[in-house]
Amino acid sequence: MSRSGADRIAAAIADVRRRARWQVDPAVRGPVPLDRLYQGVNVAHTAVHDLTLGTAARHLVEQRYVNGPHTVEDLWAEREPLAGLLFWLCEDGLAFVRAGDILPRRRFTAAHELGHAVLHRDRMGRFLADPAISESDDATDEREREANRFAAELLMPGEVIRARAEELKREHGRCPRGVLEYRLAAELLVSGEAIRYRLNTLGVGND
Ligand SMILES: [Zn+2]
Repeated sequence: MSRSGADRIAAAIADVRRRARWQVDPAVRGPVPLDRLYQGVNVAHTAVHDLTLGTAARHLVEQRYVNGPHTVEDLWAEREPLAGLLFWLCEDGLAFVRAGDILPRRRFTAAHELGHAVLHRDRMGRFLADPAISESDDATDEREREANRFAAELLMPGEVIRARAEELKREHGRCPRGVLEYRLAAELLVSGEAIRYRLNTLGVGND
């Protein structure tokens, strides 16, 4: 990813944290407060079983996000399974994640969709559908790479990772990668795959 792309993502993350009045503090343990960050940018999010454009459209009608079925009836028959989806209704964003996924996966998807909401509003139409989301930044589409990077940096702050690596070194005199991965995945509620990729990117954690 280009330097300017990386800077744009870092700036977007700083903006999301500022709007939620939340900052990273490595002295405080626990996952990044994703609900609070969503509220800060006025985007809603919800989990839907068997997520497709069709089930999302039904949700929009049932929850009265739209004025009647005719506004989304073109999506009614869409059945492709989706991991995540971001919808725009005038000025309001609504992110969907697949309810059947395990929590770390749902959190990564939600953070990915939040990335689309703040980075790609002017580069998407009425909605942006994600059939699958990788937890690395190896996606071929630039928007997907950016959303993945946004999610990784948002959910796994570098300051927290480096602080936990230092703690391990103080305890054991070294920083075994496997122990660090296990602790960070449990604290930050992210998958093993996501934290491994993030540690590789940061070059943190080894003997
Ligand atoms: Zn995406």
